Amino acid sequence: MSNSAVLVLNQNYEPLNVCNAKRAFVLVDRGKAEILEHAEGVMRSARQNFRRPSVIRLIYMIRRPRPQMRLTRREVFVRDRYTCQYCGKQTRDLTIDHVEPRHRGGRHTWENLVSACRTCNHRKAGFSPEEAHMRLLSEPRRPPASSYYVFYHYLENQSDWRKFIPGWEQYEETEVVAAS
Ligand SMILES: [Zn+2]
Repeated sequence: MSNSAVLVLNQNYEPLNVCNAKRAFVLVDRGKAEILEHAEGVMRSARQNFRRPSVIRLIYMIRRPRPQMRLTRREVFVRDRYTCQYCGKQTRDLTIDHVEPRHRGGRHTWENLVSACRTCNHRKAGFSPEEAHMRLLSEPRRPPASSYYVFYHYLENQSDWRKFIPGWEQYEETEVVAAS
């Protein structure tokens, strides 16, 4: 239970990071944070008992760079809303396509990676879109920095976090559709 995830908000309610319940408990016990949302269960210190936290807010503002999203397969799928960028099919069974093929020096960047269904990836093979006579639905870009990308792994199970994560709503519908 002490390993369960707790969302940490800055003093201005901006999502900062995720820590385990034990760490959150220490922050609250020392008066450095307050509990905004509770989870099931109780935690005990020498001095007092707490209902286990799920979301805490720091009492003091801390300065930190905006969270950066990592370039991974899943982040590319989320950016593309689980949609094949060639035929528009929405599916969970996606592959990563290098628009400019890797053997031609195509790079592993947000601008050169798109989601492709297996059929389209097979058809495109080692060609450029022009050579394969295929067109991209939209130009791949680096997504804007959003706390959604950093925290979305947790949102499915931690529904009480959603109201603290800006950008959640615009993806929620996509996730539900793609999961069915
Ligand atoms: Zn496709």
